[in-house]
Amino acid sequence: EGGAQSEFSSSIQVAVRVRPLNPRERDEGLRACVNFDEETRQVVLSAVDKNTLLQLRGATAKGYAFDRRYGQDVTSDAIYDDCVAQLVEAVFKGYNATVLAYGQTGSGKTHTMAGGAGIHGVVEQGITPRVIQHIFALAEAIRKKEKPGEKTQIAAYGLELYNEDLRDLALAGGRDESAKGWDGKGGNPSALKLQERPVGKEGRVVPEVVGVTERVVSSAEELTNFFNQCVDNRSTSSTKLNDRSSRSHAIFTITIQRTIVEVLNELGSDLKAKVRTSEFTSKLHLVDLAGSERVKRSGVTGKELKEATHINSGLLALGNVIVALAGEDRGAEGSAKKETPGVEKKKAHVPYRDSKLTRLLQDSLGGNSLTVLISCISPSEADFEETNNTLKYANRACKI
Ligand code: ADP
Ligand code: MG
Repeated sequence: EGGAQSEFSSSIQVAVRVRPLNPRERDEGLRACVNFDEETRQVVLSAVDKNTLLQLRGATAKGYAFDRRYGQDVTSDAIYDDCVAQLVEAVFKGYNATVLAYGQTGSGKTHTMAGGAGIHGVVEQGITPRVIQHIFALAEAIRKKEKPGEKTQIAAYGLELYNEDLRDLALAGGRDESAKGWDGKGGNPSALKLQERPVGKEGRVVPEVVGVTERVVSSAEELTNFFNQCVDNRSTSSTKLNDRSSRSHAIFTITIQRTIVEVLNELGSDLKAKVRTSEFTSKLHLVDLAGSERVKRSGVTGKELKEATHINSGLLALGNVIVALAGEDRGAEGSAKKETPGVEKKKAHVPYRDSKLTRLLQDSLGGNSLTVLISCISPSEADFEETNNTLKYANRACKI
């Protein structure tokens, strides 16, 4: 045991992925302003000419160090092997884990998490389909060795979090805003409720979404189809509603429930070997976050302002939680003790309660869970300021 933790020196890993320039940017003569400095491990932003510099109000080259940097030629497969595969292995050992894609709209979050045709027309599999294949490969290997009474069950659910409302992505139009009863103020009758179930004595809670469709699946193909169905349901609703998908968080959660039978050495009163049966459930959240772009305050009113406010509070809360957790990690450094599942490490105040997003993920961020934050950025000089914001956000959680 512990393999995942020893390869994973910290419970939070922060990566940066830059996409290639797209044809529109090329046609406009825009240039790349993102460079990697391998020596300092920095992602360096440099405005390329005087005019751009002036427009950016005197910004000079800015560098941020990250332990995982993925250039435009790095594939999602390579990213999977580098920082996601370990999480899947850990989930089978009982850890919870979360993979998050952060960044402005158009920076490559959905491409990274779900996959797609890509800028050069090369279809690339995203992280989630890779996760699904890996999970079933591991589950099949485990099942071959299972004793009588042992069981490994895989299930999944999909959620969209929009304006602090949770919608079931298994249901097409499950959250139809033209539906009767929808008052546009969060009073949507089909919104799901988030409940927190206390477990154990240490004030730990397990978040649960009441009534969400949890699909038990028996093959990689079945789970992939379910994931694709959730992706379709999210984009269908977004075309109706002014590209809502860029303003909502999509959360696909895979749960692994294992029943393990241990044969103890002693014999029972019936002269049969004693057995101890234990059960655990662990979760892997795959999150395609809302666009992180700053909403221009001017002209934004009513519903749109409400959306912007909610998104900002979710991403803000997530940033604060991650920073608090990264601080805990730093505090734990130098201690010779290795953590084990179920054993809490040094407590700091982690502001999970500040948003529904962080409440939903609270038992899968920090503590004994593993998190990878993939910050997606555009290379274009036109996006300099948003890219700088993304790097600043992600860098706060970095150790180096
Ligand atoms: P987001 O979800 O952050 O809004 P997308 O994932 O939709 O952004 O990416 C915007 C466009 O750029 C899409 O057409 C996508 O296929 C393409 N793209 C993003 N990242 C890459 C990449 N690393 N390689 C090739 N194409 C990419
Ligand atoms: Mg997207």
